[in-house]
Amino acid sequence: MGGESIFAGIRPTHYGLRIETNLEDGVFEGTVAIDVEVKESITSISLDARELEIPSITVYDETGKLCPVSNFEIDNARETLKILLEEPVPANSKLRLCLLFAASLKRSEGGFYITSMPSDSSDSKVIASTIMEARNARMVFPCFDNPGLKATFSVTLVGEERLTFLGNMPVKSDTEIWTKAGARRVIEFEKTPVMSTYLVAFAVGEFNMIETNSFRVPVRAYAPIEYEIENCRFALGLACKALEIFEATLNIQYPLPKLDLLAIPGATAGMENWGLVTLPPAIQCISHDDSASERAFAINLIFHEIAHQWIGNLVTMKSWDNFWIKEGLSDWAVIYACNQMSEGSESWQNFVVDGYQTALIMDSKRLSHPLEGSISGSKSIDELFDDITYKKGCAVLRMLSAHLGEEVFLRGLRQYLKQYAYQNTDTEDLWKVLTEVCGSDVGAIMGIWTKEAGYPFISLTEDESSGTISVTQNRFLLTGYSTMGENEILFPILLKIRHGGVTLEEELVGINKTIKVPSEFYKINADQTGFYRVAYPPDRLLKLGESISTGKELLSAEDRAGIISDTAALVFSCCPFLKASDLLRLLQNFENETSYIVWKMILSTLRELSQYLASEDCDATVAIARFQKQLVKKCLDTVLNLAENDNINEQRFKALMFGNPGNDDNLIESACSLFDRFIQGDTNNISPTIRREIFKLTMKKGDSDAYNQLTNRLKKANTAERNDILASLGYSENISCIKKNMQLAMSPGLLSEPEIGVLMRPVVTHENGRGVLWAILKSEAWKEIPGLSLQKLFPLFQIVLDSFTTIEQYEDAKDFFGDKDTSEFDAALNQSLDLILARFRWVERDREDVLDWLKRNGYYHQSQNGVTGSV
Ligand SMILES: [Zn+2]
Repeated sequence: MGGESIFAGIRPTHYGLRIETNLEDGVFEGTVAIDVEVKESITSISLDARELEIPSITVYDETGKLCPVSNFEIDNARETLKILLEEPVPANSKLRLCLLFAASLKRSEGGFYITSMPSDSSDSKVIASTIMEARNARMVFPCFDNPGLKATFSVTLVGEERLTFLGNMPVKSDTEIWTKAGARRVIEFEKTPVMSTYLVAFAVGEFNMIETNSFRVPVRAYAPIEYEIENCRFALGLACKALEIFEATLNIQYPLPKLDLLAIPGATAGMENWGLVTLPPAIQCISHDDSASERAFAINLIFHEIAHQWIGNLVTMKSWDNFWIKEGLSDWAVIYACNQMSEGSESWQNFVVDGYQTALIMDSKRLSHPLEGSISGSKSIDELFDDITYKKGCAVLRMLSAHLGEEVFLRGLRQYLKQYAYQNTDTEDLWKVLTEVCGSDVGAIMGIWTKEAGYPFISLTEDESSGTISVTQNRFLLTGYSTMGENEILFPILLKIRHGGVTLEEELVGINKTIKVPSEFYKINADQTGFYRVAYPPDRLLKLGESISTGKELLSAEDRAGIISDTAALVFSCCPFLKASDLLRLLQNFENETSYIVWKMILSTLRELSQYLASEDCDATVAIARFQKQLVKKCLDTVLNLAENDNINEQRFKALMFGNPGNDDNLIESACSLFDRFIQGDTNNISPTIRREIFKLTMKKGDSDAYNQLTNRLKKANTAERNDILASLGYSENISCIKKNMQLAMSPGLLSEPEIGVLMRPVVTHENGRGVLWAILKSEAWKEIPGLSLQKLFPLFQIVLDSFTTIEQYEDAKDFFGDKDTSEFDAALNQSLDLILARFRWVERDREDVLDWLKRNGYYHQSQNGVTGSV
C-alpha cells in the first residue's frame, strides 16, 4: 500500500494533462507535463504511480534545455516512480517533467473506470468516469498524489465524436481531428484554480442534461441516456439551494464558473469533485414518490458534497491524517444550513438520534480510532471512510459549537475558510483560528477529543444533605469492561447541567468533581451536545421519568432521547448501577410523548431489548410487543391521518409509528388488506410515506404468497418502490422466503452491494432468519458460486454474528472460523465475537429482571405452545 511520500525540496505548480480514451477497448493513454519548483538541489524525483505503463520520460529546465534522465524505476509495492537525473539540479530552479503513460480503464469503482447500466443486454452503453479520492489519481496519471501538494490543472480529453466530455471546469475549446481510428473530438477545459489531485475529475459517455440558471453560475445535471433526465430536476433544485445557502452561510462566493452533477450507475457514494459532483443514481434521480427517509438522505448527501466545494476543496487538509476536518466540518455545515431552512429535513434534533448515536456506538468499540493521525498509526486510508471520521467528527464540532455558541463557531469557520483559501491546514490551524475568534484556548479543550479514541461515561452519586453531586469519569466500552490501560485518558468534559429554566456550565478536567446542584430536578448534558454518556442512579432516573410523564417542558426532545439512549447503552453494557428494569420503568413514562426523535429512540431501544432476549424466551418478545402496543397507543391514534402537505419530518414520524405498532392486530390486518389492494393494481391507494411500512408489516405477518407477489414486482419497480421492497423482504419469517432472500443476495450482479445490506439486515431481526442465514453461510455451499469467498462474504457473516447472544452461538462461530484464514478481517471478527460475549453476559445478568418486570406489569403470559412474536 502506497503512502504519502515526502517530497523534500520539490513542489508541483501546474499539470498539463491530455488523455485519450478508447471506451470500446477499455483503455486510455495520455501525456502529462508537470511544472515543478525545485527548492533544494536534487538528483532524483519521486512521483506516485500505480498500474500505469510509462514508456517515456523527458525532463526540461526552465530555458527548455533537456536535463538527461539516466534511468527511471517503478516500484509497484510502494506505488512510486523514481526518476534518476544524470546531473544534479540546483536549488531554486524550475523543471518541466513530461511523461507518456497508458493503462486499462478499471472495472470497479476507483481511478478512471468504466460502468454501465445494470442490464441483461450486452449493448448497454458504457461510461468512463473518475474517483480519485483518496489515492487513486496515481492510477490515472503520474503525479504528486498528496492533498498537501496543490497545483493548477489544464485538462484535455480526446475521444469518440458522439460522446459528451465533462471536467472540473467549463470547456475552453472543442475541435475535431482525424486519426487512423476515424474522427476524434479534442475537448480542452479551462485551467482550474490550485487544488489537490484527489479532486481532479472527468467523465466520458453518452449523457442527457438539464440546466438551470437560477443560481449565479450555470448548474447542470447529467445522467446516462438510459435514465429519465427529468427525474434529476429535484436534485438540481437542491444543488442550487445548497449553493445559495452555503454562499450566504460561509460568506464566500462559490469559486468555480459552473457546477455539474453527474449520476454514475452503480456508484456507492457521492464524490465532491470541484465543479463536477458525482452521485449514485438513487440520489440524483430521487422523486417525490420516494419515501421521506430516502429523500432526507438524498438532501443530506447533495448538501454534503456541495458543502465540500468550500470545506475540503477550497481549504484542504495537509495530509490524510487530518481527513476528519473536511468531513466533520461539512456535516456540521449541512445540519447548520438545514436548520436555517423552513422545510429542512436535517436538524440537530435528528442528529441526536442518528449520526451522534452511530458515532457513540462505533467509538465505544475497542477497534475505534482517533480522529487525527490514524494513517500514521495502523489504519489504511480505506478504513477511515467510517462513522468516526464523519459522525464523530461532526459530533465533537457540535460539542464545541454548543460551548462557544453557534454564531461564534460560524464566525470562526468563515475566518478559517477566508484565511486558508486555496491552501492546506491541519487540526491545529482550525483550533488556532477558533481561539482567535472566541478568545479562549480551543486546542486545550479539543486536543484530547481528536487525538484519542473513545469517550467517557459519567457516573454520579448524590449527597442530599449538602445538595451536591459527585461526578466521576471512566471510559465507556460496549463490552463493559475496560482494562487499566484503556481507562487512563481523562477527557476535558463540558458539563451542561440543566435545572429549572437555566443551564449551569461546569468543566470536569480530572477524574471527578463535586458540584452543587438543586436536588429536585437536574439533567446533565443539556441537549446532548457533549460526547459522553451519563449513568444516573436509579432513584434519579425515577425522578426524571416522573418529570417526563407529568409535563416535559423541563427537558428538550434531545434531553429525553438522550436519557433513554444513555440508560439503554449503560444497561446493555452491564453497568453495575443500572438494570434492565430501570430502563423499562423509564420507558413507561413516555405514553404521552409527541416527538419523532424521542419515539425513534424508544422504538430502537425496544427492538434491541427484544432481539437480545429472542433466543432465550419467545414469550418475552411477545410481552415486549404488548408493552410497545400499550406505549405507542396514544401517539399512533394521532399520527394515523396522512396529509398531502406533511413535511419530510412529519412523514418520517408517521411512517415510524405506523411501522411499529407492537402486536396491534387491527393495524396489522389493515396493512395487509392495503397490501392486497396494492398488489391487485390499486397502487395509488398507498401513500409513498407508508408504503415501506405496509410491505414490512405484511412480510412480518405474511405467508409466502405475499412474499412472492412482492419479489415479482422487483423487476418492473421504479427505484423508490424497489428500495421499499428490498427493505421489507427480510422481515418474512417463512423459511423458504428466507432462503430466497439468500439466493437474491448471493446471485452475482443481481443486487448492488448496498442493496444486499438493505435486504439482509432485517433477516437477523427474527430467530428463523438468524438460524437459516447462519446455516447457509456455515455450510459453505456458496463456494460453488463464482466470485464468492469468505472475505467477500464477511459483511454478511458480520450481520449475523452481530445478532448472536448465546454462548452456544459464540462457540459455534469460533469453531467455524477456527481453521479458516481470517487474516484480512481478523480485527473485525474478534470484535464481533467479543460483542457476542458482552450480550451473553447481559442476558445472563438481566433476563430474570426483565421477565419479572414484564410479569409484574401484566405483559408477560407464559404460553403453552411457545408462539413467537416480534416487535
Ligand atoms: Zn465528504
